[in-house]
Amino acid sequence: MADIIRSIRGMNDILPDVTPYWQAVEATLKDVLTGYGYQEIRFPIVEKTELFCRSIGEVTDIVEKEMYTFADRNGDNLTLRPEGTAGCVRAAMQNGLLNQTQRLWYMGPMFRHERPQKGRYRQFHQIGVEAYGFSGPDIDAEMILMTARLWKNLGLTGVTLQINSLGSTQARLAYRETLVSYFEAHKDALDEDSQRRLYSNPLRILDSKNPAMQALNEAAPKLLDHLDEQSKNEFTVLCQILDTAGISYEINPRLVRGLDYYGKTVFEWVTSHLGSQGTVCAGGRYDGLVAQLGGREATAIGFAIGLERLIALLEATDSLPQIDGIDVYLVAVGELAAKQSLILAEQLRDHIPNIKLITHCGGGSFKNQFKRADRSGARWTLILGEDEITKQVIGVKTMATGEQETIAWDALADYLQQ
Ligand code: ATP
Ligand code: MG
Repeated sequence: MADIIRSIRGMNDILPDVTPYWQAVEATLKDVLTGYGYQEIRFPIVEKTELFCRSIGEVTDIVEKEMYTFADRNGDNLTLRPEGTAGCVRAAMQNGLLNQTQRLWYMGPMFRHERPQKGRYRQFHQIGVEAYGFSGPDIDAEMILMTARLWKNLGLTGVTLQINSLGSTQARLAYRETLVSYFEAHKDALDEDSQRRLYSNPLRILDSKNPAMQALNEAAPKLLDHLDEQSKNEFTVLCQILDTAGISYEINPRLVRGLDYYGKTVFEWVTSHLGSQGTVCAGGRYDGLVAQLGGREATAIGFAIGLERLIALLEATDSLPQIDGIDVYLVAVGELAAKQSLILAEQLRDHIPNIKLITHCGGGSFKNQFKRADRSGARWTLILGEDEITKQVIGVKTMATGEQETIAWDALADYLQQ
């Protein structure tokens, strides 16, 4: 074992004992999104590096230090996608999807070279949702209501909604000056990261996770007090819809999101159950991004859910979905029975399309096969030996009660179904 090749740090195997939970969660998420008219889009995991630099922003954690970037054999500069929004916009632009409104979702792995810890990995998975061509705030509300329904259908509790408005680009630029003056006046209190961001990305200072920065940030001038009229009105409408729908939220004036492309509505669903990695779902409006990437103006909003964190939260709150076990384990003793068991299994699958049936395979004694049947968690064990073949019957053991019966082959499907 000492020198087997191991996986890359922060990139996890998702093993068969947990994939059923992933599948169930993914199915619930897809059902809800489909129910709101969102359609799946699939785009590459690798894109030109330039796409992420130009969209996410040069002075962001992701672009500064988290991207998996490499030169391919042609010398092209490529990057493993650190998030989905940039690739989704690129695909929509390139394929003419922006000529009409779009409601889209995607799911898959993302890659960031972060320090691995609980809830923070180097390969992780997101389900992302994007809508193009809607200027809001109705679609902003739809997205938030939809996330609330995701939690409801998953049986997820323990998450709270935070919202904020980043205003128009002009309002944000004006506010930025106010903010820089404020931080300049307290320069000695800034930590190293914040010093570095003071002129390149001062809004990000507000998002600092350093406890030593909290007091300074809390006393900082608030972007919400510097909003343009339109953003202010739209934010009010959004809040009204959430109020009417009975969705509780907290207005967090320091919620700025880590990526450059956001403006107006931003939101996060956070939990206190996962330590400091508490953001399960995050998103917002990014009307400027399409034009910034060379397309014509198109309004856009989206969010992404971190699936590792979502599943960890379901586990922490004892809300993992119920997983259906195996229905039938088919034990076959002897060569003839082994062959016949495969034929019988096919007949059962023809009659009961959703049946979960394991045919033993690999021979062995009755005792050993039965042990496997027991471990499989199957509801019934079917037992086929030479004697049963001669009589065209099969032993059926109900595992919960230990009760055993002999059933004719042609009555077996009916027996299992009722
Ligand atoms: P954080 O503030 O936790 O670093 P972020 O702002 O970088 O999050 P986004 O880029 O908005 O996160 O990604 C959306 C969601 O994806 C996050 O809320 C989180 O649930 C998940 N996520 C982000 N980075 C990671 C990671 N390295 N490992 C696992 N999940 C992640
Ligand atoms: Mg991050």
